[in-house]
Amino acid sequence: MSLPKVHIGNVPNIIKNCPHCGVANPRLTMVWQSGSAKSARMDGKPPEYWMCFVCSTCAGILTAKGTPGVMNQSAYLAKVFPSLWLPSEHIPERTANYLTQANRTLSSPDASVIMSAASIDSILKDQGLKKGSLYERINKAVDQGIITKSMSEWAHRVRLDANSPRHADETDPHMTADEASRAFNFAQALAEIIYVLPSKMPPKPAPKPTA
Ligand SMILES: [Zn+2]
Repeated sequence: MSLPKVHIGNVPNIIKNCPHCGVANPRLTMVWQSGSAKSARMDGKPPEYWMCFVCSTCAGILTAKGTPGVMNQSAYLAKVFPSLWLPSEHIPERTANYLTQANRTLSSPDASVIMSAASIDSILKDQGLKKGSLYERINKAVDQGIITKSMSEWAHRVRLDANSPRHADETDPHMTADEASRAFNFAQALAEIIYVLPSKMPPKPAPKPTA
């Protein structure tokens, strides 16, 4: 998915969650920007305008680059580092919605893990595994060769992690930020393998004429 068309100076307005700490609607303060003279390039290419913003919650830095040639804040945004997480257009709407929620709630780990488990459930249902529980779907997905045994171990881990906050487990009621981030990374990787990777496969070459 491409970045929204905004001026580089308006980047803080499009960041829904800090890419470092996950906090929603982060307060991003500009701490550095290119000076028009200092940013002249030595390689003869058109100069690019850069801006750095700091998150008031985690002090993490977000960097934005403008489209080449415009040396002020009215340059359009060309790139953001770390990159913004947006679901691929190849991921079906329901799964993309759960994944987006999992990503946006990374700073609320319990909620995020539940959304990552919902993403996995949604992906497997989409593969025709509609009956039974998530537990059964994961095992059937291995039987049917949709996922590998080791991927199923990950999927079960996320399922169990999501069960703790869902059932207000008395011994282990809350997830940590690391656990939420691992669960999201797995759910995202699964969506990548099931939906995005196949879309990148080049068309089969035409058969070579036989002599
Ligand atoms: Zn932050």
